[in-house]
Amino acid sequence: MSERTIALVTGANKGIGYEIAAGLGALGWSVGVGARDGQRRETAVEKLRAGGADAFGVPLDVTDDASVAAAARLLEGRGGLDVLVNNAGVTGGMPQDPIGADLDAVRRAVETNVIGVIRVTNAMLPLLRRSAAPRIVNMSSTVGSLARQTDPAGETGPISVAYSPSKTFLNAVTVQYAKQLADTNILINLGCPGFTATDLNNFRGVRTPQQGAAIAIRLATLPGDGPTGGFFDDAGPIPW
Ligand code: NAP
Repeated sequence: MSERTIALVTGANKGIGYEIAAGLGALGWSVGVGARDGQRRETAVEKLRAGGADAFGVPLDVTDDASVAAAARLLEGRGGLDVLVNNAGVTGGMPQDPIGADLDAVRRAVETNVIGVIRVTNAMLPLLRRSAAPRIVNMSSTVGSLARQTDPAGETGPISVAYSPSKTFLNAVTVQYAKQLADTNILINLGCPGFTATDLNNFRGVRTPQQGAAIAIRLATLPGDGPTGGFFDDAGPIPW
């Protein structure tokens, strides 16, 4: 393994992912900027480097087996991987009324937000297993909390048959990984950034991407005796 901590952030060319990459870069880590579009990726890498980060581009479409396998090979060639932040996400397209739902919107949300996370995680696990302090952070959302969704007083945004359930699915998948990895040194947790102003919501969010990135940075830097299989925002554990 490399002396320097190596991280990969998926969907790091903009929004919360970009700020996660900037935050991890500020720790002196080497940060892979996972992004599917070459131009957007290189622009982000250049900006991060201009800010002093040791950033490098990782061509990555989380919905594509070959792309994810190539990303794992790229990281292996750079010395491995210590921290994976599965941040890339899509809504699938709005509105998302369950009645008369656009099934392709449901498929898009699940393909990226759930299957993409499984695909990337499994490709990166052989590298993470070689790290002294491996961490996986999956970016979820409070809209994935069934406890919040079924609380009449809960504020969980618009009706959503694709995006919100995809995050509930991601939460459930993450719990399964945590159980399977319980006897390893890999800590895997879910982070919720809060309602953040990004392209995802046409910048209606009330938090800055930097604020949204904070929970991922915290979970990426957990001590060895930190939690695993948890669901957190800045205020602490979120009810499932
Ligand atoms: P964003 O600004 O739309 O950024 C999403 C990122 O994911 C972009 O870099 C996008 O790349 C990338 N991406 C999408 N599909 C991809 C794929 N197939 N392969 C690789 N990259 C892909 O959204 P954001 O608000 O920063 O969201 C980041 C994460 O936080 C998501 O998981 C989201 O669900 C979660 N979240 C956001 C909020 C919020 O209020 N914003 C709240 C809760 C949770 P392109 O530029 O190529 O599209």
